[in-house]
Amino acid sequence: MDAQQLHDHITKLEERVRRSSQKSQFGNSDILVLAVSKTRPAQDIRAAYAAGMSHFGENYLQEALAKMEALSDLDLTWHFIGPLQSNKTRPVAERFDWVHTVDREKIARRLSAQRPPELPPLNVCLQVNISGEATKSGVDLDALPELAAQVRDMPGITLRGLMAIPAPAQGEEAQRRPFRALREAFEALRTSCPAMDTLSMGMSGDFEAAIAEGATLIRVGTALFGPREG
Ligand SMILES: *Cc1c(COP(=O)(O)O)cnc(C)c1O
Repeated sequence: MDAQQLHDHITKLEERVRRSSQKSQFGNSDILVLAVSKTRPAQDIRAAYAAGMSHFGENYLQEALAKMEALSDLDLTWHFIGPLQSNKTRPVAERFDWVHTVDREKIARRLSAQRPPELPPLNVCLQVNISGEATKSGVDLDALPELAAQVRDMPGITLRGLMAIPAPAQGEEAQRRPFRALREAFEALRTSCPAMDTLSMGMSGDFEAAIAEGATLIRVGTALFGPREG
């Protein structure tokens, strides 16, 4: 995409993020914007990096690995945000810095075991299935404390926080409700999981509601790169 257009999108997005966080009672002044680059060519990532973005989120493993190769000259932080099958964990453990979609013990155990010892532990968010979820992925709120306790002490992993993808909703209160539930679950876990500092919630259509409920990381594709094709 056009560099000037991308620049304008980033400026507008940062302004909206700043305004939302000023209004929010949680007052997170350093919200991380994860640029969701699925389906975008490597040169879009290069342009976004030149414009100041350094964290990128990818959903599809093969596509992500190809872009990592093409962009290996840049100092990028890669987040895996797609559904993760247990037979695909090794390249994720070896190549990514973060995974947002861990929702069962088996996946976490494999990621921990497969994380190369010379790298820092893999940063992990547990994906939670808040009611009304758009996908079937995610651990239920009931089962979350047990999963967190299992994952917390795995040596190849640092449990950094929680993530959710609520179903699209219209109106501020309807958007905020699931984010509030995730934030409450996050607060309840923090004493037993002291490394948790990340609430990964909010996308292009609802990040302002997520920030109002205390998001520390928003995952934004369309509002940065424009509509995806197909
Ligand atoms: C695609 C995707 C996003 C970004 O969605 P936009 O609506 O384009 O901002 C965020 N999170 C996940 C998990 C995604 O799959």
